[in-house]
Amino acid sequence: MKKELNFDVVVIGGGHAGCEAATASARLGVNTALFTNDFSTIGEMSCNPAIGGLGKGHLVREIDALDGVMADVADKSGIQFRLLNSSRGPAVRGPRTQSDRSLYKKYMQEKLVNYCNLTIFSDSVINFIFNKNYISGFTTQSGSNIYSKKIILTTGTFLNGLIHIGDNKIPAGRFNEQPTTGLSEQLKNFDFKIGRLKTGTPPRLDGRTIDYSNLEEQFADDKPYFFSFLTKQNSNQQVSCRMTYTNDKVHSIIKKNLHKSAMYSGSIQGVGPRYCPSVEDKIIKFEGKSRHQIYLEPEGLNDHTIYPNGISTSLPEDVQQEICNNINGLENVKIIRPGYAIEYDYVDPRELFLTLETKKIRNFFLAGQINGTTGYEEAAAQGLIAGINAALSVKNEEPFILDRSEAYIGVMIDDLVTKGVAEPYRMFTSRAEYRLSLRADNADIRLTARGVNIGLISEKRKNHFYDKLNKIDETKKIMKSLKISPSKAEQFQIKIAKDGVLRSAEDILSRNSVKMKKIREIWPKIPYFNDEIDEQIEINCHYKGYLNKQNADILAFKRDENLVIPENVNYDSLSGLSNEIKSKFKMIKPKTLGQALRIDGVTPAAAYILLSHVKRRSIKQIA
Ligand code: FAD
Repeated sequence: MKKELNFDVVVIGGGHAGCEAATASARLGVNTALFTNDFSTIGEMSCNPAIGGLGKGHLVREIDALDGVMADVADKSGIQFRLLNSSRGPAVRGPRTQSDRSLYKKYMQEKLVNYCNLTIFSDSVINFIFNKNYISGFTTQSGSNIYSKKIILTTGTFLNGLIHIGDNKIPAGRFNEQPTTGLSEQLKNFDFKIGRLKTGTPPRLDGRTIDYSNLEEQFADDKPYFFSFLTKQNSNQQVSCRMTYTNDKVHSIIKKNLHKSAMYSGSIQGVGPRYCPSVEDKIIKFEGKSRHQIYLEPEGLNDHTIYPNGISTSLPEDVQQEICNNINGLENVKIIRPGYAIEYDYVDPRELFLTLETKKIRNFFLAGQINGTTGYEEAAAQGLIAGINAALSVKNEEPFILDRSEAYIGVMIDDLVTKGVAEPYRMFTSRAEYRLSLRADNADIRLTARGVNIGLISEKRKNHFYDKLNKIDETKKIMKSLKISPSKAEQFQIKIAKDGVLRSAEDILSRNSVKMKKIREIWPKIPYFNDEIDEQIEINCHYKGYLNKQNADILAFKRDENLVIPENVNYDSLSGLSNEIKSKFKMIKPKTLGQALRIDGVTPAAAYILLSHVKRRSIKQIA
């Protein structure tokens, strides 16, 4: 039925970015709509049924700290929780879960349908309606005209999507789903820089035809590490994954058929994710490696589909079958759906401000894979920021920007808009300079109060958060006041210099080998609230010295970040800058001196010229 409707914020696309964008905007109390091709694909995991991992798990905890939806849905649909790097330092531990694909979608859809201030439409957007320099709305497949103050586009891999299986090319946004055509072209006409990227997925296997008898088992953790700070108990039975490997025979089949792979026959131009390579890429790039690991991951509790993580491919279907049948355990396996590669349009993220609003169209935001990223978590984190900023600008409030010292989300967005992408961008802990402070365990302490300040956080989370802070403070206060002498400490097997100096419980805990359990042995009156609170106190004491040093680095970083550069600087008028630097400044429009310094090729001298200009300008304005 044709409609003509008006909203404050409309989100286009019900993927991971779209779900977070729509709910964040709605949480801020503005009238929000979500338009997506098909309601039943809201929350679809296009590739592997898993959430989190190294760096990605941090993003999900941060989304949760700002009351986003991904963490809770991941917890409810989790069927194999594992804390990656659990034996290493807390900064690099990454929560991950294998998800039940259909439960993930079910819980996401239930959440969105019941969200206050949010209306959902199962209708495709076919073209934008422009009004001079902004997009006033769009037309949908059903013939409706929709108008909105702000529009957020989150169409993932759908813009001119083209699937490749061998030399078979199928226009599609995902397997069996129509691509979106026309929107990229409209953006190109507006001078947006648009490129092509690619990604791939492995075949799906029928688990009933796998012989597990010889395969190594990977178990879930005994005690799940949840994504949401509000989740207290496990919802599902936990399952194991199995491991198998490629071998010489498989490698030679791949090499023999390489010319049939869409990626190697030259029919794909887009660049693929270096850190999620296809099995063809692995065999060629790591020539000397005799085998590559494959995780056989169940897609659900009541689903016999298995996702073979590690053999993403665009080889023809018969070659995929031959490869599988030469892998231990898969000798008789049935392929349910072939693997494929997909090429799609993305927008150069340097077209965006840190709010994810585009520079060329000032009521238009982009989030997710369309910005050159890969991964559900990266998409969701961008959706959250775009949704928040679209809603705040409707309310005429200050933008919400997280910087590199506050959050992985800040690191990712700063990387994207400052440096652009040469390949699909994926989050890693190594991208964060201040990773000792930006841990998965303290995401709420870093971010929830910032969310409270803009009205983003529910009462339930707010109460939980401040209660936790109070309990941490109370415990720390008691620990500061309790003292012990070196000789008394020795009675508890804690060796410290016999200098007669009394040490507080906090001092004793700062010794790496000492845990809260030991502290309570010495001082039983120290209250126990829960493991999460103990973990915070322990980490902060164990890493106190390093954290103090990092805080000093963060202060230096903030000095440059606090030097704000106005948006309307006339870069052409700056003498002493090369044309190349001028054009980089004009494109990126750095928001701060720090961001200007992070632009590739910008020297401290060039940044100093910019800073001097800004200072002169503000002195003139004051005079
Ligand atoms: P998507 O999840 O793609 O969602 C886009 C949404 O937009 C969909 O709901 C769609 O219906 C909707 N839509 C599109 N056009 C319109 C329109 N015109 N009107 C209305 N709605 C529209 N990530 C990894 O981290 N590792 C991997 O190995 C990996 N492999 C992948 C393999 C494949 C084949 C694919 C397709 C993706 C893969 N990904 C992988 C990427 C991951 O799926 C995406 O990064 C993530 O889903 C992006 O989220 P998004 O919200 O940006 O877009």
